[in-house]
Amino acid sequence: MDLAYRRENLRLAAPFTISRETTVEEEVLWVEIRHDDVSGFGEATPQAHYKESVDSAAAFLDQAEGLLGHDPFALEAIGRRLAEIPGEMAAKAAIDAALYDLCGKLTDLPVYRLLGLDRAGPPTSWTVWLGSPEDMARRADIADDGRFRRLKLKLGGRDGLDVERVRAVRSVTELPLMVDVNEYWTLDEAVDAIVELEGLGVEYVEQPLLAGDPDGPGLKRRSRLPIYVDEDCHTLADVAACAERAHGVNIKLAKSGGIREAVRMAIAARALGLGVMLGCMVESGLAISAGAQIASLCDHVDLDGNLLLAEDPWPGVPFDEGVQLPPDAAGLGVHEAVPDPR
Ligand code: MG
Repeated sequence: MDLAYRRENLRLAAPFTISRETTVEEEVLWVEIRHDDVSGFGEATPQAHYKESVDSAAAFLDQAEGLLGHDPFALEAIGRRLAEIPGEMAAKAAIDAALYDLCGKLTDLPVYRLLGLDRAGPPTSWTVWLGSPEDMARRADIADDGRFRRLKLKLGGRDGLDVERVRAVRSVTELPLMVDVNEYWTLDEAVDAIVELEGLGVEYVEQPLLAGDPDGPGLKRRSRLPIYVDEDCHTLADVAACAERAHGVNIKLAKSGGIREAVRMAIAARALGLGVMLGCMVESGLAISAGAQIASLCDHVDLDGNLLLAEDPWPGVPFDEGVQLPPDAAGLGVHEAVPDPR
C-alpha cells in the first residue's frame, strides 16, 4: 500500500479558548492510503499538549509507509508494527481511519457496519468555550436554539468565577450541562465547586485535576458528581488506573491511535464499571466521521469539532436532531469539498 499526506489548516468560526490556550486555526495532516485503485483517507490532529506536532507526525508517516504491507484488512498486524514506534497517536489515528475507510470502500460497507455496531449514538454536546460568565451565558443562549441537546462548558478560569460561569449559563438555558476543567482545579477547589455544580444540575465533571494528580482517588471518593477523565486517559493501558480516580473515561481517537484501540478501551471501561464518553479535537468531518462510527458504544458524545469550523472541508457527516451520525455510505462516507473557484 502507498501512503501520501499533506498539511492543511482548519479555520475556526471563532477563537476557541480553554484553560491552557486559545486556538484560531488548527494545523492538521490529511493522510491517503492507496490499495490498487482505491484510496482511504484519515486526518491527524497532533496536540502540542501531548508533545506532538505536524512535523513529528509527518516524520512518523514517512516511516510508517514501509510498515503497512499489502493487506488493508490485516489491521491487527499493521497496528502491531506501527506500535513499535512510540507515540504519534494522532498520526496513528489517521492511518487507522484511512485503513478503515479503505476496507469499507473495498466491501461497500460503512465502517460502523463493518464493526457490527448500531448507527446512531447519543446526541453530541456543543462546547461553550471559556470566557466571562456573561459571555458564556450569551453564547449558551445562542446555542440553545433547538440544534443541540446538551452543552459542555469549558471551565478552569483560575479567577474564582467558575461556579458563576455555570450559574450564568443555567440562568439562560434548561439544556443538560456538563463541565470540562482541563486540569485546572485543586482537590479542595474541586470538592467545593462540585457541591455548587450539583445544585445547578450539572451532570458530570471532566478532568478537574491535573493528569496523574495523587488526589485523584480522594476526589472520586468525595465528589458528589461523576468524574470523567480525559488528559488522564489515552490508550487501553490507562483505563484500569482511571477506574481508581474516575467514574468514566473520555476516549478520543487522536489519543488512542484510532478506532481499533478506542473499541478496546470502551470494552475495558465497561468491564471496570466505568462510563464511556467519546470526545474529539478541533477537526474536520473526516476525523469526526471516524469518531461517529463508534459513538453508539458510548454514554456521552462530544463530537462538535467540525461544527466549530468556519467551513468543514470534509462535509458529509449528517447532524440529525443533535446527533452526529456516521454517513450511510461506504467507508467513512465523507469527501473533500471541491474549493469554490470564486
Ligand atoms: Mg476534555
